[in-house]
Amino acid sequence: MLERGTEVRFIRTIGEKKAKAFNKLGVFTAADLVALYPRRYEDKSIIKKAADAEDGEICALVLRIDTKPEARMSRSGLHYITFIASDDSGSVSLTFFNQRWLEKSLAQGATYRFYGKVTYSMFARTMQSPDIDAVIEGRPLKGIYPIYPLTSGLTQNAIYTAMNQCLPIIESAVETLDEKLLSKRSLIGRAQALKQLHFPDSMENIEKARKRLAFEELLIFQLGVLCIRAKTKKENAIAMTLKGTHSGGFISSLPFKLTGAQQRVIKEIYDDMQKPNPMVRLVQGDVGSGKTAVSAAAIFLAVKNGCQAAMMAPTEILAKQHSETFEKLFSGFGIKVGLLTGAMTAAARKDVKSRLEAGEIDLIVGTHALIQPDTVFSRLALIVTDEQHRFGVAQRAMLAEKSGAMTPHTLVMSATPIPRTLSLILYGDLDLSIIDELPPGRQPIETFAVGEAYRKRVYNFINERVVEGRQAYVICPLVEENEDSDAPKLKSAEQHGAELAKQFPSLKIAVLHGKQSAKTKDAAMDAFSKGEIDVLVSTTVVEVGVDVPNATVMVVENAERFGLSQLHQLRGRVGRGIHKSYCILIHEGDSERSKQRLNIMCATNDGFKIAQTDLEMRGPGEFMGERQHGEVRFKLADIADMETVTQAREAAEEICTEGLFGNEKYKSLADETVRMFRIGGSEYIFS
Ligand code: ADP
Ligand code: MG
Repeated sequence: MLERGTEVRFIRTIGEKKAKAFNKLGVFTAADLVALYPRRYEDKSIIKKAADAEDGEICALVLRIDTKPEARMSRSGLHYITFIASDDSGSVSLTFFNQRWLEKSLAQGATYRFYGKVTYSMFARTMQSPDIDAVIEGRPLKGIYPIYPLTSGLTQNAIYTAMNQCLPIIESAVETLDEKLLSKRSLIGRAQALKQLHFPDSMENIEKARKRLAFEELLIFQLGVLCIRAKTKKENAIAMTLKGTHSGGFISSLPFKLTGAQQRVIKEIYDDMQKPNPMVRLVQGDVGSGKTAVSAAAIFLAVKNGCQAAMMAPTEILAKQHSETFEKLFSGFGIKVGLLTGAMTAAARKDVKSRLEAGEIDLIVGTHALIQPDTVFSRLALIVTDEQHRFGVAQRAMLAEKSGAMTPHTLVMSATPIPRTLSLILYGDLDLSIIDELPPGRQPIETFAVGEAYRKRVYNFINERVVEGRQAYVICPLVEENEDSDAPKLKSAEQHGAELAKQFPSLKIAVLHGKQSAKTKDAAMDAFSKGEIDVLVSTTVVEVGVDVPNATVMVVENAERFGLSQLHQLRGRVGRGIHKSYCILIHEGDSERSKQRLNIMCATNDGFKIAQTDLEMRGPGEFMGERQHGEVRFKLADIADMETVTQAREAAEEICTEGLFGNEKYKSLADETVRMFRIGGSEYIFS
């Protein structure tokens, strides 16, 4: 008897070899096979008349074979079978290559359904190697065929037969959602949905099946998210006291007055940090809204309470910049700041780590190197991750697991404003604070999208700004030329930097990209921050966080190659000071779509609007793909589908108030939740 846990190699019709191929698709057991969802469907149920089939159309024809199917050999030694078949409207010439066995199985005079592409040649309608099904009186033809992902050694037919074996498992699938929820959301049952997905009756039913399973997928994800959140909130954390913080003068020592939004968010953070349970808070604010000062206030509170704080940044450049900023901000308060990145020498890293362990460093700023197991803190109480949605919910949870008896407070600073649905998925485990106000006196950045014809003018414009004392960034998609041989026209930082230097011998130009040594990168960034460099020709390594307020021009080469949110981030590198700033998007070619996209950049400076449009235009895969690693992948759910995502969250909240784990009613949901949050072989412990 086949069971959910039966290994695929024990399923009839699957041998050792096929089993290996299934394994490659992540299918190890019968249950995995049932969870292998089709990528798409082919509808062969709509039968055309031969005469109505258009040139190039993919369709199904029901034809009687008129001439004897005969095997022949082409001059190049290829076997093929060819014959004529017809319906009452006309005839088609069919050819099959390298399928000699068909000669025996196709009978002259018999009727078949042929599904494939119809092509008009000089003399006849033709079909090459279409799919064939015998038409037999009294036996209805299967109309819709699921198309599964394949790997070498597997065919669609092999999957169909294996799936057939699993039919009993599908039909007895346990229902995870209760009656009330099903009817409230007009969802079909689980077994029915799985059956329609693999053995569909109609496209309509497939849609119903998808809807049901997508909802379930999102629900399970949100259940996991909420449980992680609830669990974290129950852990112990160091409760900070405010004594001497505001009055200690840190906030009044800042070189500017905080905006109302910054003050509100700092208060939300301070309220959290005074509790004996960990803060788990996301601060969302558009580029330039002043998130760094907010995180500094949190760090200040932790350190004044005798604790250590850690700040994680996604790039070395940003980590270095932050450590310098904090050093400046905290200089009058005796707070010791350390830097730890993978680019430092082993000796330097060792030194920092030992000082950290000894408690001689109050704030450590670094890249991922920070979270390696050999980094030991003496009294870590606050972790800030900046510009960091490279961590998924589950990864974040796993990291927190590693902490000791006291869980640190966590603050996540998000650079890219993201649409609410995505926010529920990426950060659904966090409390949300929004900085919805820019520091005063900021002039809107003027944005232009221009073609190649404007290049000369753009260069002159840069030159004029430099003469006025300002600085410029020029962003190129590539590091070196011909890195991407498919796109010979793309600008590279190296070559473009050299070209600009030739054209403008009076400008001080530096090149910056990820392939340089840490030392070269630091030197270039340093010189640019100090105003010693006029034009920084760079790749997107400066995309996030970099703060040089005197830079007022951002030129992006091959702007059509970048996502909108990425362009918005890049644009956020200027307009950070008192001077009027400009963003010039130079695009290659003139596809309507890319023009339309770039025009959105010209029309608005609102990061949320841009992110929403980006999500809609590119779809979630690409939108997230750029920066998302290791996030749970959804098989059916569309995370741009605001309505379903929100409904799933609501349903998850209801279930969680009743209690998910240990509740007999929700056993299968609880099991599925644990399954979804299994990452890299380790299992997140929810309770
Ligand atoms: P982001 O939110 O993009 O991380 P930053 O924290 O880097 O923004 O701040 C952008 C710039 O604005 C910095 O130069 C910072 O010193 C400045 N800034 C931050 N808050 C204020 C404020 N309240 N008033 C004036 N300038 C501010
Ligand atoms: Mg920042």
